[in-house]
Amino acid sequence: MDSSAPFNQPTGTGWIEVICGSMFSGKTEELIRRLRRALIARQRVAIVKPNMDTRFSDTRIVSHSGSYLPSITVSTADEIPRAIGGATVVGIDEAQFFDMRLVDVCEQLADSGHRVIVAGLDQDYLGHPFEPMPQLLAVAEYITKTLAICVVCGNPANRTQRVAKSSARVFIGAGDAYEARCRRCFSPGSDSVSSPQTT
Ligand code: ZN
Repeated sequence: MDSSAPFNQPTGTGWIEVICGSMFSGKTEELIRRLRRALIARQRVAIVKPNMDTRFSDTRIVSHSGSYLPSITVSTADEIPRAIGGATVVGIDEAQFFDMRLVDVCEQLADSGHRVIVAGLDQDYLGHPFEPMPQLLAVAEYITKTLAICVVCGNPANRTQRVAKSSARVFIGAGDAYEARCRRCFSPGSDSVSSPQTT
């Protein structure tokens, strides 16, 4: 599971790790696991999430399995450098809800010596790359793709099927609104209203 994260961590420089995949693939669980290890090593850790993700809590990042860590909520990516204070390890959850500025912010943090661990959905509900994740994947040193299990056939799943009726790109929900599906069982748009995509 940890094969794509650095075992021998670089010294004298920062770097970017990306954890991405579909919903229910354990992204936040993996982010929490890495941050816990940093906390045990007494490194200074800050965890940031966008203020639109209020499914579980405003002051914590929470995985679907219920583990959590305290977090700071920000409105824009540009608020992150100030929000993290003196932390050297920076976790960012639900990165797909930030705009493209997040890429520059992560690069600047890594350039100035921070370990930046970013978790987010790499595809939207239509299976399209979900910005700014593709750009983050391009500049990251380490990438982990997490896979869920297809609820239809049991294959490894990397798509998120929306089962709620909405055609908005961002539609906050969990098990009631989305399912993990494999490539074969994924049917973009079939269970949702087929109107033009809005962002
Ligand atoms: Zn399937």
